[in-house]
Amino acid sequence: MLNIDLHCHSHVSDGVLPPSDVVTRAAANGVHVLALTDHDDVAGLAEAQLAADQAGIALIPGVEISVTWQRRTVHIVGLRIDPLHPALAYGLHDIRVGRGLRAQRMSEDLARHGISNAYEGARDYAVNKQMIGRTHFARWLVEQGHARDVRSAFKHFLTAGKPGYVEHEWTTLDNAVSWIRASGGMAVLAHPGRYDLSTRQLHLLLDAFRSLGGEGIEVVTGSHHPDEYGKFANLARAFGLKASRGADFHRPDEGIDLGRLPALPHYCKPVWQGWPEIENLFAHTH
Ligand code: AMP
Ligand code: MN
Ligand code: MN
Ligand code: MN
Repeated sequence: MLNIDLHCHSHVSDGVLPPSDVVTRAAANGVHVLALTDHDDVAGLAEAQLAADQAGIALIPGVEISVTWQRRTVHIVGLRIDPLHPALAYGLHDIRVGRGLRAQRMSEDLARHGISNAYEGARDYAVNKQMIGRTHFARWLVEQGHARDVRSAFKHFLTAGKPGYVEHEWTTLDNAVSWIRASGGMAVLAHPGRYDLSTRQLHLLLDAFRSLGGEGIEVVTGSHHPDEYGKFANLARAFGLKASRGADFHRPDEGIDLGRLPALPHYCKPVWQGWPEIENLFAHTH
């Protein structure tokens, strides 16, 4: 059985490990095929590829794009992308510029609530100064003693209605899917169970995503409760979408580790079906 994990983060976005350490850790955990999917940036992929060659595992170039759909944030994972494709590269660059401005507005809002210099603090936590996210603010808030841990930082700050939360317009669903496809990749809706959507809205999202050229949804992910796997496996089937598996690993001491999730339900059509990277692995083992 191949161990395939198609969603994780390095310190290029809001993970804590360098890309090469993410890959080495995956290999040590028995992962055969790993996709690095940093938020809105592909800057870790070259280093990850070198490490994957060394470790003898297959690396799938990936990205997780932040999107606003019907005034909600959803995440679209791109798999087997070409990180050098201009439309994708420029699109991601624009999102990162937006992140910088958003971070300053978040900081201003925290200042209004008596917490100053948050921008500088969060920026210190971001290894990649172009990719500042809420997680970097959360880590700084913990360091400053405003929250016990990252989880409670997200509970008391940074989320709708709480200090440090600002509305933000990410890119469109259409753009994200188009850039991924233009670069030769496959678009996968990340952790559909994490969005606060009614059944009707979820179906609308899956319909819209599919008609724009989206091809898969995450079924087995660290963001889903095991009880939800069946529901999303069935939805994938009903909407003609393939199924993906990924830990959404960010750091060793939090959430599910690389390659440790259960397999996809047997009736799922996996996103990796027919990928040359998988065929090549079989070629090497025989
Ligand atoms: P951003 O894209 O800057 O809005 O940050 C989103 C990231 O914050 C997600 O990818 C998670 O890594 C993290 N995150 C969101 N909600 C929570 C939460 N409740 N607890 C811990 N981390 C969270
Ligand atoms: Mn994240
Ligand atoms: Mn996500
Ligand atoms: Mn993620």
